[in-house]
Amino acid sequence: MFKRARPGVIFGIVTVYIVAAFAWWTVAHIRSSKQLYDEKKQILELLCYKATVDVRGAIDQEMFNDSNDLKMYFAHNYPDLEIVFGEGASEFDSYLIRPAKASYEQLHKKQRRVILMYALEGFVMMGLLFWGIIWIYRNLQNKLKLERQQSNFMLSITHELKTPLASIKLYLETLQKRALDKEQAATIVTNSLTDVSRLRDLVDNILLAAQLDTSKYELQRFETNISELVEMVTHKYITPRNIQHRVNIEVEKDVFLTTDEAAIEMILTNLLSNAVKYSPADGKIDIQLRTDNSHVFLCVSDEGQGISAQDKELIFSKFYRSGDEQTRKSKGTGLGLFIVKNLLNLLGAEIKVKDKQTKGTTFELTFKKDA
Ligand code: ADP
Repeated sequence: MFKRARPGVIFGIVTVYIVAAFAWWTVAHIRSSKQLYDEKKQILELLCYKATVDVRGAIDQEMFNDSNDLKMYFAHNYPDLEIVFGEGASEFDSYLIRPAKASYEQLHKKQRRVILMYALEGFVMMGLLFWGIIWIYRNLQNKLKLERQQSNFMLSITHELKTPLASIKLYLETLQKRALDKEQAATIVTNSLTDVSRLRDLVDNILLAAQLDTSKYELQRFETNISELVEMVTHKYITPRNIQHRVNIEVEKDVFLTTDEAAIEMILTNLLSNAVKYSPADGKIDIQLRTDNSHVFLCVSDEGQGISAQDKELIFSKFYRSGDEQTRKSKGTGLGLFIVKNLLNLLGAEIKVKDKQTKGTTFELTFKKDA
């Protein structure tokens, strides 16, 4: 658990550090620009002293004939300051030197512009930073999820392969060591064949999932009597497996679709296999095929444990299996519904998972009728 939490903790620490450092950087820049403004104001005030001393010296040396001379001299040497004459005895006796209003306004404007620039820059950068952090976080979560699912898959696949192989070995050893009558031998052969077909289904599912994952599966569409196909696949799946469920098939006759037979067979087989796996042996499984004006509906229902609202969103993801791999009793790889969903996408059909009214689950597939 610690191992799993570690990337999250490290990510959290780094994120907090980056955000704090960035906020600090923005505040520090805004502060320093305020400081700069104060310093520039002080420089202007100091300049006033210098100008006062300078003007006084010039007046003493009688450099000006009148106040206009002084004003011109002043404007030329101190453009950031202004000189205001009072009503003294002599115009050179009563004057005031101060920073020009325009200089203050300019300074203030400049400071506001700089603060706005830092604030905007900070805002945009913070937005980008958050976007990046969320993006990395999501990727990290996905990676962890994938790792968990892959390890779940490895555990389940090992189990799925080992169990039928062990029982086939046992059946063959029994045939080899014991003299069995014809009936016993036939039962053992049938059971072995069931295990072999389980293994074949498993390998088919894995290969198909890989093809779908890499978009290598190519549909072979032909006009198909879907009614016959559904009945054939249901019997093919149910009969050899000694399934004890009550199976009820309600199929509208002679419904035709231009579709990929192998894909439909795979889809229905996976849905039937789930209905059998996730519902009690004495439960009923309903297979229904019906149409309306523009659609063909194929439904597979069971009277099982049902699927929680949260799981309904997740069951079509690759390797997803509800519950914990260590404690789960049902067999599986989490590939079945991933395959179903992807094949239906290719066929342009939809799938809905519904709660059955009494108890259990209904998978409803909707195909568009041929134009
Ligand atoms: P697998 O059956 O190999 O686990 P699937 O992709 O076929 O993988 O199914 C994913 C999960 O969806 C299953 O682990 C199970 O929890 C849930 N699920 C699928 N079909 C049913 C069903 N008919 N009733 C209840 N749960 C189901």
